[in-house]
Amino acid sequence: MSNSPAPVADKAPGLTIDGQIVTTSVVNRVINPATGEVFAEVPDAGVEHLEAAVDAARRAAPSWRGLGIAARQDIVRNVVELVRTNIDELAMLVTLEQGKPLAKAAGEIDSGLRGLGRYASTDIPVEIFRDNDDEYIEIHREPVGVVGAITAWNYPLLLALWKIGPALVTGNTIILKPSPLTPVATLRLGELLQQALPAGVLQILSGGDDLGRAMTAHPGINKITFTGSERAGKSIMSGAGPTLKRLTLELGGNDAGIVLDDVDVAAMADDLYWAALSNCGAVCAGLKRLYVPAHLASAIEEALAEVAKTIVVGNGLDEGVDMGPIQNRTQLEKVRGYVDDAVHRGADVYFRGEVPDGPGYFHPVTLVRGVDDTIPLVREEQFGPVLPILTYTDIDDAVERANNSDLGLGASVWSADEQRAVQVANRLEAGTAWVNQHPVLTSDVPFGGVKQSGLGVEQSIHGILEYTNFRVLRVKR
Ligand code: NAD
Repeated sequence: MSNSPAPVADKAPGLTIDGQIVTTSVVNRVINPATGEVFAEVPDAGVEHLEAAVDAARRAAPSWRGLGIAARQDIVRNVVELVRTNIDELAMLVTLEQGKPLAKAAGEIDSGLRGLGRYASTDIPVEIFRDNDDEYIEIHREPVGVVGAITAWNYPLLLALWKIGPALVTGNTIILKPSPLTPVATLRLGELLQQALPAGVLQILSGGDDLGRAMTAHPGINKITFTGSERAGKSIMSGAGPTLKRLTLELGGNDAGIVLDDVDVAAMADDLYWAALSNCGAVCAGLKRLYVPAHLASAIEEALAEVAKTIVVGNGLDEGVDMGPIQNRTQLEKVRGYVDDAVHRGADVYFRGEVPDGPGYFHPVTLVRGVDDTIPLVREEQFGPVLPILTYTDIDDAVERANNSDLGLGASVWSADEQRAVQVANRLEAGTAWVNQHPVLTSDVPFGGVKQSGLGVEQSIHGILEYTNFRVLRVKR
């Protein structure tokens, strides 16, 4: 037990299994990254809870699927209303466990709900593929069965809603495991949604990586949809082999941004700053290495520093805070390590912002120049409020360096000339190439990575259909 003050949550939420709220004798402590103190203790689901969850999900599946898409979409619309009614409570929990400012926590939930609204109005018709004298063929999309969803700590509720929505609309039942670092809001979401969903349709289990591994191996789960690191994604891919599960993997990125030599630096600076440094730099498809023309480097560096000077770092519950802490101590130390290593290799940290005194996992906004592509800060995903700025003199060289990565989630080109920017963007090896923005995700556009950034897509009809199998009806005439 901790010596910390009493948890903020009066009653920590429990697991949701078969419509029941379940507590466990073993608990995990959840730390508020703004204070470094424990603020909640949540259940640690074991094998028996996973078995109960799979059993409940399998029992609920036939009637949920049998409802038909229109009825399920009505229920998902009720879910949207229910979450909206409780958005303040949920946003508070996200801020307490994740660290981001309260308004941004509410924005995260709102974005997830807009996704749900869209999934609830996307039709999946049966396709009549052939109807002639010889044959009649229909193509149906059927639910895969039970979906296991595993999420990361950077956007706990957005990632959860993005998986729950399409899984349920397409007629699957679901078992969702949030990150052990940010389980509280997701557990509370599970409790709330029992008011709208039949028992067994949605299970939420909190637990560590072992629970994710057990879900991946479980023969009663038909698909894993995962958002997290490449490391875990690779483990899931091999763990899913023996049961040949369907997989959607949304993994890390090390997105490059290329500024062309015709930009209006002042007009672009704000967007460029937030492309790289929103959510304390913990955005999978955030801009993580910036390539600028050598002769514009000083102007761009200066313009970014001007924006950085205005950023208020602090506890996400406080008014006027733009950026919270890094979510966990391990990540904080990793980010510090990248910066120290870069400095050791001769990098110039030309801007370092302020952080509040006292505890909490705060890291200053840090802008770095004088680096080359070989150092870990540039080669790897830093996932923190640090931006390395690199120079180029030849655009072909910049494109080659941008593409020189095992990852390929997003990339961007910044220019006053749309056509010119599009030509460069079309050469970038990424799931999404943005022009004059980065990263912008909406639920009507597919999002996914190439290379080792993932497998499959989320969002849009393409993402929804990843929760289905083909079933073909073929009649001889
Ligand atoms: P992580 O991979 O450590 O953990 C994510 C989830 O996977 C957690 O719930 C964890 O318990 C579970 N897990 C860990 N190992 C597992 C295993 N072997 N088998 C099954 N489950 C396992 O990632 P993180 O540190 O929470 O998140 C940061 C990473 O997530 C970054 O790389 C970031 O880019 C990525 N991310 C990607 C997207 C995207 O859409 N592409 C979105 C958000 C975050």
